[in-house]
Amino acid sequence: MPAAEELRRRAAEAAGRCGVDLDAVAGDREGTSPVNGATVSSLRWAQVSEVDEAVARAHAAFKEWRLVPAPVRGAVVKRLGELLTQHKEDLATLISIEVGKITSEARGEVQEMIDICDYAVGLSRQLFGRTMTSERPGHRLMETWHPLGVVGVISAFNFPVAVWSWNTAVALVCGDTVIWKPSETAPLCALAANALLQRALSEAGYSTDVSQVVIGGAEVGEALVDNRRVALVSATGSTRMGRAVGPRLAERFGRSLLELGGNNAAIVAPSADLDLTTRGIVFAAAGTAGQRCTTMRRVIAHESVIDSVVERVAAAYEKLPIGDPMSDGTLVGPLVNERAYEAYAAAIEKAQAAGGEVVAGGDRVLADAAPDAFYVRPTVIRMPEQTEVVHQETFAPILYVMPYTTFAEAIELNNEVPQGLSSSVFTSDQVEAELFMSAGGSDCGIVNVNIGTSGAEIGGAFGGEKETGGGRESGSDAWRAYMRRATNTINYSGELPLAQGVTFDV
Ligand code: NAD
Repeated sequence: MPAAEELRRRAAEAAGRCGVDLDAVAGDREGTSPVNGATVSSLRWAQVSEVDEAVARAHAAFKEWRLVPAPVRGAVVKRLGELLTQHKEDLATLISIEVGKITSEARGEVQEMIDICDYAVGLSRQLFGRTMTSERPGHRLMETWHPLGVVGVISAFNFPVAVWSWNTAVALVCGDTVIWKPSETAPLCALAANALLQRALSEAGYSTDVSQVVIGGAEVGEALVDNRRVALVSATGSTRMGRAVGPRLAERFGRSLLELGGNNAAIVAPSADLDLTTRGIVFAAAGTAGQRCTTMRRVIAHESVIDSVVERVAAAYEKLPIGDPMSDGTLVGPLVNERAYEAYAAAIEKAQAAGGEVVAGGDRVLADAAPDAFYVRPTVIRMPEQTEVVHQETFAPILYVMPYTTFAEAIELNNEVPQGLSSSVFTSDQVEAELFMSAGGSDCGIVNVNIGTSGAEIGGAFGGEKETGGGRESGSDAWRAYMRRATNTINYSGELPLAQGVTFDV
């Protein structure tokens, strides 16, 4: 394990290279690294009153930014993509230090930020509306999309910077300004990413108020949610957080985009290629130490293959290198904190009480080398049925495996949980694949065939149904959430015919 002082130094240097002035943001709120429990930052958290000041500045900046032509706004996002490319290693280091991701996944997260910048630059020339035929002669109907306003972004610890970039790159080309309340676990990541964007804005001669960060806890997020000048709040985190944020926004008719918890399953059919299936399961279930919203938490395997699936996955789990996420070869890093470890241990206990059999993992490791960190062995539990604990999202590497007999039953089990983010089927039977993707199939926002539940690309819309919140971010037409639509009726007839045949002659 790296020494505490070493981690703190590396974090400070990486943040500094990205343009963060650590003295200017210093304070008494300590941030610790899940790698070894060491303190790696001491920062000042924002007061609630400062959120309102930031919103006022963002609102003033919006009045100018909305008038900048979208492709010119796109050029700023292009520059952000270049700066992210230059500082990929710095950001990846900060991600590993603050949230414990292995280096390859941390780099992947930054790559995703670069990808969404590319996407948003193209999008900046394609923010299009439709024209429709009018029922009246000499009339035309069309819709125009306009910038929405100030967008508040609240993000979770496990994608400490990518989620911000999905929202921000798109919001900026749409003409919005952004205030980001990052996870309290990853403030340095946030300050570093935003410093790069502020550099891109300054170089192009725009106000840095277009993109601001407010560091703090839930109360800072609440202040963003309650501020009537924040037109849209895009909030990523637990369903518990969404339950608090959603109604508060609805109360003031603010727009919300909620990206909440998942409880993602894969169905393994008798015809599945079990080598490919095993690899798909192991990455999706044990990768990121089980701390992705799209982590595979359930396997629903046909009774004829369940023994083989369990055996293969358990054997692969035995070989997973666990440890310092920045060491070469490590595939499983730490849990984010002690609370996450307690939730892991409690879920295993509950599953066992409900008849579950732990067939791989199930315990903490490296407690001597890193007593203040929480490394666990990814765990496979064979369950007799889908019991209560399997309905919950435990944000840790626990995979429950359950049997099914008919494909219809497997779909029922997939859909039975309250969350609706991601799902997969492993099958070589085209009919099963089509059924799973059909109206009568998976009820999730992401429905995959022969790949795992995690690792989405930015080109598609990302999000899920039910308790996952219903929001969609990133690609496809997700940009519409960041704009307002005006419907225009243009009369070039010289007459004034009324719609629906109404007459009103004075
Ligand atoms: P969390 O809910 O504890 O915190 C998320 C963010 O919400 C943090 O910035 C936090 O400060 C803020 N927050 C908490 N309560 C708030 C409130 N009342 N008002 C305003 N802001 C508030 O989540 P976490 O532990 O950081 O992340 C893990 C969770 O996030 C998991 O449930 C995971 O599935 C989910 N997640 C979902 C997605 C998705 O796209 N669906 C992506 C990543 C993570």
